[in-house]
Amino acid sequence: MGLPEIVTVMTHASPDTTAGKTLSLIDSKLAMGWMHTARFFTTAAQLNQLPKVEVPEIAFVGRSNAGKSTAINTLTQQKQLAFASKKPGRTQHINLFSLGKQGVTDAVLADLPGYGYAAVSRTDKERWQRVMLNYLMSRESLSAVVLLCDPRLGLTELDEALLDAIRPRVEQGLKFLIVLTKADKLTRAEQAKILSITKLNAGGGEVRLFSALKKQGVDDVAQLLWHWCHPEGLPQAGLPQAGMPQAAPVTQATPADGTPTQNQP
Ligand code: GDP
Repeated sequence: MGLPEIVTVMTHASPDTTAGKTLSLIDSKLAMGWMHTARFFTTAAQLNQLPKVEVPEIAFVGRSNAGKSTAINTLTQQKQLAFASKKPGRTQHINLFSLGKQGVTDAVLADLPGYGYAAVSRTDKERWQRVMLNYLMSRESLSAVVLLCDPRLGLTELDEALLDAIRPRVEQGLKFLIVLTKADKLTRAEQAKILSITKLNAGGGEVRLFSALKKQGVDDVAQLLWHWCHPEGLPQAGLPQAGMPQAAPVTQATPADGTPTQNQP
């Protein structure tokens, strides 16, 4: 059986046409290099403990065991980064990671606790659903949501509830991507099928197949996130781009309460 067209799409950069214009492609090395700068910024148990940030924030959400930590580690090419979120005391926290070259933060990744974990008490589950929905609906700096989904399970009830919660913000411009993880566990025909079904249910959001094991979709997702956080594109060396806004001033994210950040080396 020949490769379905979809697989070709997965392995090549695709222009971001969501804003109605085609942005120039960027080198996947640039996007992967940028993802690799991810470093631990801070952790918070609830929304009002999160620092205000003035750069785009991308939230990674998903059912427990969907492959979220593995995907974050693969995208950032760091073995332990998101597993820090699984350390005792941090599993129920929103963990923030800074992104940006030369130590200048130009975006933040937010790793939200996986939901639906069977061993968690009902009260804890409900509390976490509230914290998460509250975050998704009201976090000002939130620019994009990446929903990790194991395609063998499909979108669960909680995934659907999350989609419903963010729909009004998606209509107002919040970017949205469904990452179908563990694609290596599916045949090519199954991948093509689940991709088209999920696209129909994605309500205008992006959908990508992803395998940490086979490194499928990694460059593509990294490039999409790069474009979302740099809508102005690459500044041309030394020259302001005609008709393009200057790159937004980059502010180092600092906790609102002035507490020192817990940056790791
Ligand atoms: P999380 O709870 O969503 O953070 O999920 P994890 O990243 O811990 O992954 C859950 C399980 O799925 C682990 O056993 C991973 O090894 C496995 N897994 C994650 N990504 C992949 C993948 O791309 N391919 C395969 N085959 N297994 C994966």
